[in-house]
Amino acid sequence: MRSILSILVVVGFVISMPFIFNKSITVEEPHKLDVDGNFILNEWVPSRAGKGAKWDYNLKPVQVSKRVWCFFGAMEMPTKENAGDMSNSCYIKGDTEWIGWDSGPSFIFAEQAYAEMKKIADMPVKNVIISHEHDDHWLGNNYYKEVHGAKIIGPESINENYYGPRHIDGKDYPGMQTRMIKALYQNAVRGTTLVKVDESFDETTKFTISGVNMEYVKVGYAHSEEDWFLYLPDEKVVLVADVVMNGRVTSNRDGIVIGQINALNAIKSRDWDYLVPGHGFITDKSAADESVQYFALLKDRVLEKMEDGVVADFITKEVTLDEFRDKDLYYILSPGNVFRSYEELEMFDEDDLIDFSAENSDDENDDEEKEEA
Ligand SMILES: [Zn+2]
Repeated sequence: MRSILSILVVVGFVISMPFIFNKSITVEEPHKLDVDGNFILNEWVPSRAGKGAKWDYNLKPVQVSKRVWCFFGAMEMPTKENAGDMSNSCYIKGDTEWIGWDSGPSFIFAEQAYAEMKKIADMPVKNVIISHEHDDHWLGNNYYKEVHGAKIIGPESINENYYGPRHIDGKDYPGMQTRMIKALYQNAVRGTTLVKVDESFDETTKFTISGVNMEYVKVGYAHSEEDWFLYLPDEKVVLVADVVMNGRVTSNRDGIVIGQINALNAIKSRDWDYLVPGHGFITDKSAADESVQYFALLKDRVLEKMEDGVVADFITKEVTLDEFRDKDLYYILSPGNVFRSYEELEMFDEDDLIDFSAENSDDENDDEEKEEA
């Protein structure tokens, strides 16, 4: 009797094996599957072909100056719903080619952006210039590389921080997998791969591409480990990416307050009529004002509270930057910015602030300093 029982147990186990070892997944919210029927994956996934229709970014370029058009992204964090379209990227019209400034969050974004620009002038993209390493600004690079054979000019930090095997939490990965690749629907991120920057500069460099004079200005560690902006002196336009944001609170998670203030002063020292921020829609002479005010207040108030003996744990209660309460992402990002700046400003040294107006007076630059720029 006991042997029959044990046979039954074994048989029962064998029958149930497929269910034990192949747990089937019940989809409770089928609308959360992407168009290819994929879950949004959070583990490392190799780039897949996919089969559904491409995400429609519905892109409309806005002309900023004679030669410059930009695509303005949503004032949000990157989500599946905005498909990473939450930063600004631009096109500069050369004599015989388009020049890209920040390529957006995905291959498909870049492809659709180019399709719009082609309607304005049917020219290829031979050069793409990148501001900094955050992935909402450069994941379109492989579109320009693969389809146009473009050269990617950008900070060395992209190559250093995203490529090569890495060991994270006990696992081995072939390279960094950025937040877009993890967060977006497959039909938006499909085809997006990381490509290396082809050319980097050590210092601020002036060059001319297809008849457009440019100054690619290094501001170093500011909003990220290595930030650059692009000044077009003949257009009186400055494309500054994330060292300036308006209409929303900045994310200083990878940045430093003093670096930000220095970057804003470097921008101020150029003569421009239009400024395109990394996030935000204001492009006139007031475009940088919110960032200038935000970082000045952040620095002064945190230093003041520090002197009063407020410890790091309470700094986000004491410094709230209420002037920015009605700006997008205030509640998500501002406390983090305050908390992070405490650590940095404990080692604050007045000499770390760079006086660009003094530097410029030896230069050929106009000496009557514009009071607001
Ligand atoms: Zn950024």
